Amino acid sequence: MTSDECATDGGTDGLNEVEAMDKEYVFGTWSYQKEVSPTEMVDSEGVYFTDARGERRLDFSGQLMCANLGYSADRVADAMAEQARRGPYFAPSMTTENRARLGKHLADITPGELSKTFFSTSGTEAVEAAIKIARLYTGKHKIVSRYRSYHGATYGSISVTGDPRRLMAEPGIPGTIKAPDPYAYGSTLDPMESLEYIGEMLMLEGDTVAAVLVEPVVGSNGILVPPKEYLPRLKEIAHDHGALLIADEVMAGFGRTGEWFGCDVFDVAPDIMTMAKGLTGAYAPLGATVVTGEIAAHFEENMFCHGHTYAGHPVAVAAGRAAVETYIEDDLIDHARSVGDYLGDRLDELAEDHPSVGETRGVGLFRGVELTKRSDRREPFGHRKDKISTGKTVVDEVSGEAWDDGVYLANMINTLIIAPPLVISEDEIDEAVAVLDDALRHSDRAMEA
Ligand code: PMP
Repeated sequence: MTSDECATDGGTDGLNEVEAMDKEYVFGTWSYQKEVSPTEMVDSEGVYFTDARGERRLDFSGQLMCANLGYSADRVADAMAEQARRGPYFAPSMTTENRARLGKHLADITPGELSKTFFSTSGTEAVEAAIKIARLYTGKHKIVSRYRSYHGATYGSISVTGDPRRLMAEPGIPGTIKAPDPYAYGSTLDPMESLEYIGEMLMLEGDTVAAVLVEPVVGSNGILVPPKEYLPRLKEIAHDHGALLIADEVMAGFGRTGEWFGCDVFDVAPDIMTMAKGLTGAYAPLGATVVTGEIAAHFEENMFCHGHTYAGHPVAVAAGRAAVETYIEDDLIDHARSVGDYLGDRLDELAEDHPSVGETRGVGLFRGVELTKRSDRREPFGHRKDKISTGKTVVDEVSGEAWDDGVYLANMINTLIIAPPLVISEDEIDEAVAVLDDALRHSDRAMEA
């Protein structure tokens, strides 16, 4: 998905000077370059951002589901500026108070025995580190992940990704195995049956699987929330077969679900947790891989053979520390839970009014609106294959219409992804839902009789 996640850019004509220069000299992500059409952004405030033509839009998807703090988190901006002036960079063998305190904060807010963090600069790198740590710790090499998943763009993380973005990187790294998903609406398998099948897969793989890697709530592949008992049982199954549970919280973490982490929705503590995006509220690129004390202890006597120049970059960890303190002091997790319930109700109303809405689902401020062209068959408008080989789908048209009417909405294949900044108010939700209500007329009209 994409620009990382198939964001709508509002058309290809009429680029201004900056946009045309950008198009000529900068690679667009995940796109046919001839279709890239960047829109110049010049300002932002609260949950709104403004383009160079003066058009202001409400951000209903938190950009790429990462702008959890919105655009006015001055505490984070100030912390970054202060650190940049005091010391913009020190090698990872040195530290700053921000890095140490952020490490401690992460140990405090993550569940279970998670206690020690490796810092990197993206979700992709957080997953790369998790794969390497799991392999080194267990001495086994296979990673089981699921089809409807995205875990990153570099070779390891794209190899464990299950969605079609992996196809152009195949054969990828060895030892990656894909399992079925908890997708009650669109899969032939019941979520709990799919889980028992994963147990069978692990049994058949023998004692060779280092870890099972999942998004606790699947993000860019359509906001899939498993049944309450799914994740605890998955942990049991993994452990029964000597495999670790890695929770990829890159999108679900930091209040998105109305809890600190997606795992908290299910009361599960994984062995390794990856995070990025909301970790700094998107103010700076920062990834983190948090492991249990037991896994960390393994590397006391075994080489942790991994690192980056910018691992724990001082300005990025200053942003991370200030962001975590903002979530806590502004009570944003509780706020996300309460406005998230309101958002869920408003979306359910839309589903009643629009026949092309097959299902609305999600938790907290992490919601999906899946469109269908034949509700009796739950048939999607666009198939994965179409999405990577052709232009606009009906779902693109719906988000394009919303864009023209002042609301930014990301989408993936057949699902609108609604993940606004956690600071959003009920009035702002109403404003965006009214625009979406109007835009859904497009998909209603495109339905087959
Ligand atoms: N894991 C998940 C669950 C994600 O959603 C993403 C990005 N959408 C990644 C990993 C990769 O993160 P990044 O784009 O920061 O490399």
